Amino acid sequence: MTTTDRNEARGLQTIAVHAGEPPDPTTGASAPNLVMSSTYVTNPAAGFSAHDLDEDSGFIYTRWSNPTVRQLERKLCALEGAEACLCFGSGMAAASGLLLSVLSAGDHLILTDTNYAGVAEVGRDTLPRLGVEVSLVDTSDPQHIADAVQPNTKLIWLETPANPIMRLTDLDAAAQVAQAHPSLRVAVDSTFATPVATRPLDHGVDYVMHSLTKYIGGHGDAVGGAVLGARDDITALRLEAGIHYGGALSPFNAWLIMRGAATLPLRMRAHEESATTVARFLEDHPKVMRVMYPGLPSHPQHELAKRQMNNFSGMLTFQVENGPALADRMASELQIIHYAVSLGHHRSLIFWMDTASLMATSFRLEGHQLESYRAYAGKGMFRLSVGLESGEDLCADLERVLG
Ligand SMILES: *Cc1c(COP(=O)(O)O)cnc(C)c1O
Repeated sequence: MTTTDRNEARGLQTIAVHAGEPPDPTTGASAPNLVMSSTYVTNPAAGFSAHDLDEDSGFIYTRWSNPTVRQLERKLCALEGAEACLCFGSGMAAASGLLLSVLSAGDHLILTDTNYAGVAEVGRDTLPRLGVEVSLVDTSDPQHIADAVQPNTKLIWLETPANPIMRLTDLDAAAQVAQAHPSLRVAVDSTFATPVATRPLDHGVDYVMHSLTKYIGGHGDAVGGAVLGARDDITALRLEAGIHYGGALSPFNAWLIMRGAATLPLRMRAHEESATTVARFLEDHPKVMRVMYPGLPSHPQHELAKRQMNNFSGMLTFQVENGPALADRMASELQIIHYAVSLGHHRSLIFWMDTASLMATSFRLEGHQLESYRAYAGKGMFRLSVGLESGEDLCADLERVLG
């Protein structure tokens, strides 16, 4: 039985605690060591080419691979049911590393038209500048994906639930579109879902990307990213994006993120419980026009959410009559929830997302694609990352500013 087989038979909570973290063979240390060394004494003198490297090679240089980072990579593999994982210094390093190493000039990318703003901007500015053709597609309808495929389409990039509007994409349907074209691969940014909610590789997707800064790290104190997939794909990614682009994860951050990941299943359950309480409170509130939470029957894709997500996570959005004015009040009057960007932390975070300004800076949508965005976001919405505080206290904090 391999380590992976053994992990498959265990519960997710056990995997989260133990995978990648055997006791240290030389000291017996029960908790993982933090290995900060940048270089490793090599004896016998070994080859020096990154091309000679595989997952079982000894350690040579920390940008290539590091014992603590490798422990986190093994834990993430076990959580996602993946063969291999490569960690990066941030979610954006993971996303751009994957996009730039898979795509070449002349290739075509199908990119979801609404997703994390940084990736959206790489897709609209950087990739076309490098000669990659990009089609922006509302992937919530799989037919739109199928219609966008061209002979030179190399990659479909999805994000579900999509930041910031909580719109979902059906991963089974998207993978099915790709299966009809042998050289077409599918990548999904699964940061909002986490492996607790959805394991995209089980749905036939080729690559899963995470910002570890969010739920997996979970405590708002370490920036990191990861890409998971088949061994050959991740070996190629390590060589090009990891070693040559060089966006390596700090071992210290890996150590912090590993500690966070150990409690991911427990935290996700608590995030979901408090988010459900807050979502229902907001839905009943006379000043709130619309709440978007995949766990509410009012979410337009609630049926898909039930099929594809084992946990509805802690992310929700809501719309009010005068968002910008309320945002000002929140920034000065909220007592528990922090008015701040980012998400997935144990502290609740809220931020106003103005549709017109996001269209100008990041999404630039028109016609039916703008309408689809507005169906979820209106003129703008508050994105609330419900933390691990008591749900009732969060409702009271919101009631104070909603009035
Ligand atoms: C935050 C985020 C990213 C970027 O991750 P960083 O760690 O901030 O670089 C990418 N995708 C999603 C969905 C995110 O929420």
